[in-house]
Amino acid sequence: MLNRKPLFPGVIELNFQAGEVLGCNVYLVYDADEWLLIDIGYEETVDSFVEIIRQLDFPLSRCKTLVATHADVDHIQGLAKAKAILKTTVTAHPKAVEPLRTGDTLITLAEITAQNLKLEMPPVDIEHQVNDGDIIKVGSLEIEVWHTPGHTDSQLAFRMGDVLLSGDNIYRDGCIGAIDAHHGSDIKAFVKSLERIRDSGVKWLAPSHGPIFANEPEFMNRTIDRVKGYLKMADFGTLAEGWPLMDEWEDEVADGILPEGLGPVSS
Ligand SMILES: [Zn+2]
Repeated sequence: MLNRKPLFPGVIELNFQAGEVLGCNVYLVYDADEWLLIDIGYEETVDSFVEIIRQLDFPLSRCKTLVATHADVDHIQGLAKAKAILKTTVTAHPKAVEPLRTGDTLITLAEITAQNLKLEMPPVDIEHQVNDGDIIKVGSLEIEVWHTPGHTDSQLAFRMGDVLLSGDNIYRDGCIGAIDAHHGSDIKAFVKSLERIRDSGVKWLAPSHGPIFANEPEFMNRTIDRVKGYLKMADFGTLAEGWPLMDEWEDEVADGILPEGLGPVSS
């Protein structure tokens, strides 16, 4: 048996509990014997996580559901396997249903041909769809569902009092979840989600990768300002909304302007 190391009342993070980083953060939320998991990570670590849960003395038959924060492979590859072992259900945002049901390797970023990356994405059905404002109950605990699109269109976060299980919205170093058109990133939506978190009054952010940290407005604003800047940067390709240099270029082409020191060249 293991001594439980809850981070907050009713919340254990299984990597922290194990004293070893096995993958993405896996939150076990519990009240008495009933429990659920928020994310499961890769398939190869499912057995280890299930063994930890067994040693923490949670009855495996009392797993209420497996919740996916969003449909990225590093969070959900193990869902089908864990679901079979625990004989339970899967819960996710409506936008995660199709990629999970079909095991879509493009949207889940399981396959990136240009990087020679090809991971399995075992398909899994979703029994429960949740959206912003829904409540998931575990025993007498209530988990408030937030839809926080930006990183992906299916990204969820979960509020429990002054704690937000904040998914891939932001990490302790101010980085945010990868912006990638293939899995439905949206920079404007990301800014809104980050502002919502900043203004929520939530004290602690428990992300899907890395350590827990405080929800400080100045810290949040540094990231929000940076992400707002992405909207005007060519770096973000089709996800940017404009590129001011192209407006300048149009004017300069119309006026025949060249940099000072260059030309006119005699023909
Ligand atoms: Zn992600």
